[in-house]
Formats: sequence, C-alpha cells, structure tokens
Amino acid sequence: MTNIVLLLTNDKLQEVQSFYATNKVIRNAPGVVFAAKLADTAITVYKSGKVMFQGGGAEREAARWGTAEVSEKGIASKGDALPKNFATLSVIGSDETGTGDYFGPITVAAVYVPADKIPLVQELGVKDSKLLTDDFMRKIAPDLMKVCAHSILTLRNDKYNTLQAKGYSQGKMKALLHNQAIRHVLKKIAPEQPQYILIDQFAERATYYRHIQREQEIIRDNVLFSTKAENLHVAVATASILARYAFLKEMDRLSELVGFTLQKGASSKVDEMAAKIWLSKGEETLHSISKWHFANTEKARRLLQKRKNL
Ligand code: MN
Repeated sequence: MTNIVLLLTNDKLQEVQSFYATNKVIRNAPGVVFAAKLADTAITVYKSGKVMFQGGGAEREAARWGTAEVSEKGIASKGDALPKNFATLSVIGSDETGTGDYFGPITVAAVYVPADKIPLVQELGVKDSKLLTDDFMRKIAPDLMKVCAHSILTLRNDKYNTLQAKGYSQGKMKALLHNQAIRHVLKKIAPEQPQYILIDQFAERATYYRHIQREQEIIRDNVLFSTKAENLHVAVATASILARYAFLKEMDRLSELVGFTLQKGASSKVDEMAAKIWLSKGEETLHSISKWHFANTEKARRLLQKRKNL
C-alpha cells in the first residue's frame, strides 16, 4: 500500500478538511483530528500537522496539497523480520482491543486466513482496521466469521478485576488470551497448519513467553511478532475486526444493562457516566462493568462527593 505523509501549515490543513468534508469518516485514534475516505484513498489529518494519504490514489490526492516530506511503503512496523511475500501466505493472526476502555471487556481474536482465502477476505472489506468504522466492522464481521476459522475471547470485567487484584498486568492477561485463542484456532484447523502465526505485538517476545510460562500448551512454532501487524497480513486485520466486533457486542449488552449508551475510552465523559451508574445502580454494578483500577473510578468517586456536599 502506498503511504504518503505531508507536513502542512494550519491554513492548508483547514483546506484539506473542507475539501474532503463530504467524505469524512469518524476515527477515534489518538492524535487524529480529521479522517476521510475516498474509494481508493484514506486521508488522515493529525494534530501534529501531518496528513497521511494511504491507498491506490495516495499519490494523486497528496499531489493536490504539496510535496511529500516522508514517502514510504506501508506504515513502519517494528518486530520480527518477515519472510518474503508474507502477505500471500497462510497465516493465523491475532489482535486485541478494549485495553484502554474503562467500560467493557478486553477482547482477543485469532483468525486463520489460508492463502486461497485471502482474496475473498479482502473482497469482504478487510483493510487496515484503523481505517474501518465501527459500523462497517459490525456489518462485515459476521461474514468473516463464516468464512474464517477463528476464536474470540471476551474477558468480562468481573474476571478482569479479579485477575487485576491478584496482580496480573494487562500484558499478562493479553498474553494468556492470545495464546489461548491461537490454540483454539490451531485445534479447529488441524491437521492443516498455518505457515506462520503473527501476533500484533504488545510485548517483547521474552516478556510474552514469561507471562504464559505456566500454561499447559504454549504455542511457539512459527510465531512472529510485529507492531502494526494488521498492515502485514489480512489475518491480523481480520482478527482486529473480530475483536472489535466482540467488544462492541459486549458494550451493547452493558449499555442495555445500565439503560444508556456507554462511552468508549476513558475520558471525563466516562467519569460522569461512572458516577451516574454508581449513584443509580450501586458500586457493585459499576465494578462489574468497568476496569475498576482505572483512574476513572477515583474521579467518579470525587464527582459523587462533590454532589453530596452541595
Ligand atoms: Mn493490537
């Protein structure tokens, strides 16, 4: 995928945003102030003043605005060196989501995409998951689940809080879930075997394996780690979509439980909601639907205190 980054002045940035206003999409990624999607190009404007053009039409679109400061092929990934033509091989990919959200679970998905299914999976709409909206992911996830052998694990908050209180880091929880999800997929596809397993990297290899050292079955063969792995193989991009889908489903369920739509992330809006739930449904309910150790809990407590003192 072609990737062009321009550094633009504030005036130019405004122009870019008005120019692509009708193609605007919502992207809740850190540092992103505006995003748009054309048929062949994704445009992302960052707080830093950089604008990224990705896709087949990147060069054409970028040329409207200036000359590239940085031009590269694909977003830089850090991790294991991958074999040539990696994107065309039969791979199990795994990824997680929900780690930074106060409400809702951590979800992890592992997905097997054999070489002969890569075109179909792409046809169903799998691209860099960071370019996909929640609504689009909800739409395509059921089809992807029908097409690909997969495992999705949802770590609900009651379990999360228990593990956290026992001293488990998020890294350890994620490592355990990734290993488990990959194991499930390997069982499902046996005796077929993937050529590689690619984990979207959240910890160094040694740390990952230290986290799961007490597990019964530790998957080590042909396991590779890389950051931004969703750009390296559709299996990881698909895993990312399925993990997100499971997260959204669980958020729907929890929203129904509290009677309003829960906010994602961990912003001050989340503090307000947490306080509201604490007051109306009690501490136990809030505990059961949140990552209790996040600072939001303390902030919600203070909000309630303030209200009492009025
Ligand atoms: Mn990831």
